[in-house]
Amino acid sequence: MAATARVRTRFAPSPTGNLHLGNARTALFNWLLARQAADLALPPACGVSGGQEHRGRGVTKGSGAFILRIEDTDRERSTPEAEQTILEDLRWLGIDWDEGPDCGGAYGPYRQSDRGAHYAAALETLQRGERLYPCFCTPEQLEAERQAMLRRGLAPRYGGTCRQLRSSERAAKLAAGAPHALRFLTPPGRLRWEDAIHGPQEVDGPTLGDFIVQRSDGSPTYNLAVVVDDSDMVISHVVRGDDHLPNTPRQLLLYAALGAPVPCFAHVPLLVHADQRPLSKRDASTSLRSYRREGYLASALRNFLALLGWSHPEGEEVFDTAALLARFDLARVRSSPATVPWHKLRWLNATYLRRLDAAAARQALVACDPEAAARLPGGARWETFVHAVRQNCETLRDLLAWWRVFEAAPLPLPESVRAMLREDTARRVLHSLRAGLAQGDEAACAGIPELLRDIGREHGIKGKALYRPVRLVLTGREHGPELAALLPLMGRALALQRLDEALQHEE
Ligand code: GLU
Repeated sequence: MAATARVRTRFAPSPTGNLHLGNARTALFNWLLARQAADLALPPACGVSGGQEHRGRGVTKGSGAFILRIEDTDRERSTPEAEQTILEDLRWLGIDWDEGPDCGGAYGPYRQSDRGAHYAAALETLQRGERLYPCFCTPEQLEAERQAMLRRGLAPRYGGTCRQLRSSERAAKLAAGAPHALRFLTPPGRLRWEDAIHGPQEVDGPTLGDFIVQRSDGSPTYNLAVVVDDSDMVISHVVRGDDHLPNTPRQLLLYAALGAPVPCFAHVPLLVHADQRPLSKRDASTSLRSYRREGYLASALRNFLALLGWSHPEGEEVFDTAALLARFDLARVRSSPATVPWHKLRWLNATYLRRLDAAAARQALVACDPEAAARLPGGARWETFVHAVRQNCETLRDLLAWWRVFEAAPLPLPESVRAMLREDTARRVLHSLRAGLAQGDEAACAGIPELLRDIGREHGIKGKALYRPVRLVLTGREHGPELAALLPLMGRALALQRLDEALQHEE
């Protein structure tokens, strides 16, 4: 009978760069499982049968926990700045954690670089159980062996040179202080387990070779550290990218050797472009930070990330986090690579932007571009602005660009505007509008639509010929919200300034 446990999921990024879409999706899926634990739909049995048996922890429905663990064993590539950025980006995305490097918790420390004693204790257990042996092979020897295997068409693995050493030879090398790694003695037999997304898995143990658990510099390898950490932190579900699927059997062997309960494994599918090219994590455009800077909303990104490999049971595409929590289920995560529907991201963002009130828009802008946000107006003016233009924006950058229309700096006059300014009809409309505005008081600006109707009647001009020149000159754009909604924001002085700038141009 499997032990019962709370749902405890974790996200374990390596702080070697920015959080990218794939990582963020993994974090979101783990967070969802932990936060919906009260009514968690359990994946099909995580346990397995036959050969070596690996049974997932039984899970009681209850309050879950989401853990953030920093996997910084790669000392050369890990930086505190990258860790900081990851934490900030997760917070921005709306993902919170119950235990982590910044807030601690009952199963810490939560940074692998601080967990040396835990790895040493596990290595000690493995040594005692005679599951390890020292390997004195040099990197050159190992590479030559690898190449030879590849030439023979075999999947490379360690051939077991040091496994065969006589104990006297081994002792002599150790006594001489020869540098060595520690390898795990992979037992014979087949390994079978169930992945909650990929289904039943099976591997012949010896094909894995004897793998390294401690490098010659004394540092633990990923496979050892992750098993020790997941086990110490009582993780119930390991949800991660399917690039880690091949590591799982090695980890299962370590769980068994350490006598630790096995979590449920779920490997989320790779993210690919439409041409099936995998998304590269070094591709700056996929970092969460770049989306935030480009004016995407955390709410839209959360919705978008959820759709990368998972689908809503009713086929819905726009859902908030509460709805996502209610419907998310690992069983609906596909195992095949997930094509990223880039076009949907802009569309989703526009959808969420349209629903944003003025206060939320300001908050989002502060996260996107604090300097630009500091220059924006407040109060009723901001509210009028947001309500007027949000329908015409896809990103927060579009919102900022619209605000420029209401600032005193002259608008650029593209060739389309210059060409229009050479037309007699347009010039007549603009001159008459200028005269009408100059005579009127401040309220005349809000009255431009009526003024235009009068001008149109007087000159026999209507429709596009009447409105296009005014829109182009006042806003610098062909399209946009109703003029009536924009003009109260513009004010008479700026409207006159814009008309003068344009009319002077082709005098
Ligand atoms: N640090 C690993 C990565 O960033 C996480 C591996 C795991 O979740 O087991 O890919």
